Amino acid sequence: MPSAPIIEVAAHAGVCYGVERALSMAHEAAASAPAPVQTLGPLIHNPLVVRELGEAGVGLADTLDEAPAGSVIIRAHGVVPAVIDEARRRGLAVIDATCPYVKRVHKAAERLVDQGYQLIVVGESGHPEVEGIMGHADGRAHVVSTPDDLATLELERRVGVVVQTTQTQAALAAVVSALLTRVDEVRVVNTICSATQERQASAAALAGRADVMVVVGGKNSGNTRRLAEICSARCAATHHIEDASELDAAWFAGAVLIGVTAGASTPAAHIERAVARIRELTGGADDVR
Ligand code: SF4
Repeated sequence: MPSAPIIEVAAHAGVCYGVERALSMAHEAAASAPAPVQTLGPLIHNPLVVRELGEAGVGLADTLDEAPAGSVIIRAHGVVPAVIDEARRRGLAVIDATCPYVKRVHKAAERLVDQGYQLIVVGESGHPEVEGIMGHADGRAHVVSTPDDLATLELERRVGVVVQTTQTQAALAAVVSALLTRVDEVRVVNTICSATQERQASAAALAGRADVMVVVGGKNSGNTRRLAEICSARCAATHHIEDASELDAAWFAGAVLIGVTAGASTPAAHIERAVARIRELTGGADDVR
């Protein structure tokens, strides 16, 4: 009889520190904050989590107009300060779950502007985190994602740089080296958070060894889809699921090593459910972390 396959969960998988913290603040708020409690925008891109939060008493308001009373929870990637001021002005209780690493970007942006630097934010224009950073720069910042975006900018002699937490070091380095050819002084505060890169690197390493990869997370989650792409490029038998009920025993026939990873919007409990279900379907495989 063939031995049961090994299930290995990627060394870095699932929600990061900031999202875990926001989720636990939301659950605490459901129990103790003025009702109704609602997140301002979905707390994370994961329909199961949004549903679970709803069942726990945390609703969803896309804008302040949809939250006429009670409490609003600010998401991990933050908002412009004016939104928090406006929520308070309307008499709402504000639970600020902005990730401390995102707050670090806000503080760096404020400091650079105070010191007289023209601020460049390396990031994705229109992303809520970037909008939040811009809101801390006194209207004096520009968003740049590649060196080409600098072409049309009138640069001052002293430029300060901060970066969206999920950007890559390569994207930051490309913009900074282009700036160095055009201005006298560049002051860089590297505000990249390593959580995204760690998840991608450990998914790639595991997919390179696994016979089957299971990626757990919302189909509407950009970072989960990116993980699925990274895994597919290294392991043809990659399956992206939102919930353990989608797992199919036929996927695992003949597999020796089954890899599991999960996007930054997938709570640990969802990973554990998937591992438990794979273990059932494959006749009791070991799991290794
Ligand atoms: S990716 Fe990093 S900065 Fe963003 S919420 Fe997670 S821990 Fe915070």
